[in-house]
Amino acid sequence: MIIVLKQGTPETEVRPLRQILSDKGIILQDIVGETTHMIGLAGDTTHIAIDWLGSFRFVDHVMKVTEPYKLAGRKFHPQDSVFDIGGSKIGGGNFAVMAGPCSVESEDQILSIAHDVKAAGATFLRGGAFKPRTSPYAFKGLGLDGLDLLKIARRKSGLPIVTEIMSNEYLDAFARDVDVIQIGARNMQNFTLLREVGRLGKPVLLKRGLASTFEELLMAAEYVISGGSTQIILCERGIRTFETATRNTLDISAIPVLQKKSHLPVIIDPSHATGHWDLVEPMSYAATAAGADGLIIEVHNHPEMALCDGAQSVTPAVFHKIMKKVKLVREAIQQI
Ligand code: PEP
Ligand code: MN
Repeated sequence: MIIVLKQGTPETEVRPLRQILSDKGIILQDIVGETTHMIGLAGDTTHIAIDWLGSFRFVDHVMKVTEPYKLAGRKFHPQDSVFDIGGSKIGGGNFAVMAGPCSVESEDQILSIAHDVKAAGATFLRGGAFKPRTSPYAFKGLGLDGLDLLKIARRKSGLPIVTEIMSNEYLDAFARDVDVIQIGARNMQNFTLLREVGRLGKPVLLKRGLASTFEELLMAAEYVISGGSTQIILCERGIRTFETATRNTLDISAIPVLQKKSHLPVIIDPSHATGHWDLVEPMSYAATAAGADGLIIEVHNHPEMALCDGAQSVTPAVFHKIMKKVKLVREAIQQI
């Protein structure tokens, strides 16, 4: 961090701040130019807030030199993180595919889809039991009954299960029953939830907020990791823009940017990013070619009967085709 002082600040004004910072173990280095006086801060500045420094009247502005996300960042963890979750690997060249319906609707539905996505090569089964819906009148998931159905589907398919938590109320059930706990876009900055889920020490799928920067996403990951869960998968699922042709705008740059900044695996959700089943296929290939560590795709055996997100759900047949072509795209990229 670098503090830039207002021109002409007398040393007597700065002295109390110097004292506080030295007491915190920070080493201060002055850089004095003809018109500018800067103080460089070295050491562990994690607990020094920029806002607090800015509250000193003689401070012109403060510049960050290192990222505030020490645990999620690559700096202190240069190698890719690789997780083995119930036999399914992700990260460091292991490509994961999470597939399944937006919501678990019935035993027949989830078992049939689990069987189909497994046969096509998916490595995780997704399915919402608690659904964040914009309308209070819309189907909000089967709740704990949905978790029970996911457990049956895991037993029958052998696929680890990914499902979203929306409230601290169900932490115990998720800790016991779920392989990967999803924190949805709308809860990416629910800091109490992040902290409590972190305490469970379980794998977490963290989705980028609807209008969140990469730094905000990585700070959300930092919350979870500092709580205790180290296995975090980052997910780009489209962000809000002025475009209306798609549900969101898929930010493909999230893949290389996040992979540069962080050691955590980065996956793409082309279903929520586009909102249209026929756009899921091209976006899956684009994400794969850009080096994503995996995909999360909504698949439904009867999209027109789906209780949630039918328009963006692909059928098992289309999913099968996507899996085959994704494999070819990966092989092509690996050969270059
Ligand atoms: C979901 O995965 O079904 C979901 C609601 O995703 P998001 O939080 O990205 O909208
Ligand atoms: Mn959905």
